[in-house]
Amino acid sequence: MKIIFLNVPGHGHVNPTLALVSELNRRGHHVIYYNNTEFEPQITKSGAEFRPYPDPQPTAAALAEKASSLPQVSVWVLGQSQRLLPWLLEELQQEHPDLIVFDSICLWGMQAAHLLELPSVASITTFVSEGVKGIINLRDGLALVGQALPALPALISQRRQLVHTYGPAVFPHSQIFPAISDTNIVYTSREFQPETDFIDDTFHFVGPSINTKTRETADFPWHLLQDGRPLIYLSLGTIYHNKAEFYRMAFKTFADHPGQFVLSAGRLTDIAALGPVPDNFIVRNFVPQLELLPRVDAFITHGGMNSVNEGLYYGVPLVVVPQQMEQTLNARQAAKVGAAIVVGDRPPYGRTQPHELRQALTQVLAESAYRQAAEAIGRSFRQAGGYQRAADLIEAVSAHSRIS
Ligand code: UDP
Repeated sequence: MKIIFLNVPGHGHVNPTLALVSELNRRGHHVIYYNNTEFEPQITKSGAEFRPYPDPQPTAAALAEKASSLPQVSVWVLGQSQRLLPWLLEELQQEHPDLIVFDSICLWGMQAAHLLELPSVASITTFVSEGVKGIINLRDGLALVGQALPALPALISQRRQLVHTYGPAVFPHSQIFPAISDTNIVYTSREFQPETDFIDDTFHFVGPSINTKTRETADFPWHLLQDGRPLIYLSLGTIYHNKAEFYRMAFKTFADHPGQFVLSAGRLTDIAALGPVPDNFIVRNFVPQLELLPRVDAFITHGGMNSVNEGLYYGVPLVVVPQQMEQTLNARQAAKVGAAIVVGDRPPYGRTQPHELRQALTQVLAESAYRQAAEAIGRSFRQAGGYQRAADLIEAVSAHSRIS
């Protein structure tokens, strides 16, 4: 069958789909995948036919710039929908796909599939956060309102313009995010997903979609890793990584620590400009995270959903320093199941004191309950079926739509 993937230019949204695309390709399906050209190498490697969005393409930099504010991301996505929908509707009519897979923030993908009444599946790389209660506190709520108010006029007018052009069917659901369908694949386990009435039987929790072979490779000095001392991995992901102050603070805080540290400093960080690197640190712009995690004793992370999922998949306890609200939700859920300690989760997020960070790391390393909790969630992930189950679900949707 011919399957079209539509996604946003963000590694966190693309990475879990790569193993799935590779599996679909292995099963003989033809996958066409639209994204920014920047993602072409990984997407092609997974076996899909890559196609770029029309110029000016939505860029990872533009999305990253808005990432701290969900209302700003919504405005950006609505703007992209307005621009891309005319092209996409035409493209899909020409291609005649059997099925569309759209990311849950790729609004234009959901809208085009819905307007053309094509069978579709939503790919949800985050928690389903709609309707989740008891994790976000009043302070977070106020910060969100502060972000939403200035974005409101643009949100309302863009939504109106889309309805004016395409009719009310362009918004089949009341919420903008998550963009959903009759089949929704979530890359975490039901055990780890916080409770919300929003979840019904259209949601399928398949666990992290992990296949090392489909991911970007990077040279790493494995020979420098020393046996017999704790190994700690520190990364703020692919969006919030240009954080020289935080890295310098970590150098100072952990220079005399008995552990060995690997810091993924982010592609935009000039490592030389960080100043002297302590002897117990290995610093790289990008590391093969999936290959490193099985060897790691603790992971200091920003709490991006993929990093949390990947860390727990390998049973690694976490210290989470969330940089924005969605990551705060991830962080607190990981803490709730006993697998993490959260620091710096007060708006505007990401600020932590050296003693707090060191204390949190000492605790997750010393108390085995954190690793045991991480391993328990890791087991629930493995039992959830991963990319193979996601591929089964996609095949089932297509088979069902052919019969009906
Ligand atoms: N990643 C990686 N190497 C690095 C840094 C990040 O492979 O040095 C990958 C990581 O495995 C994860 C993704 O980039 O799959 C980051 O996604 P996440 O949702 O954690 O955070 P985001 O980058 O979206 O903030």
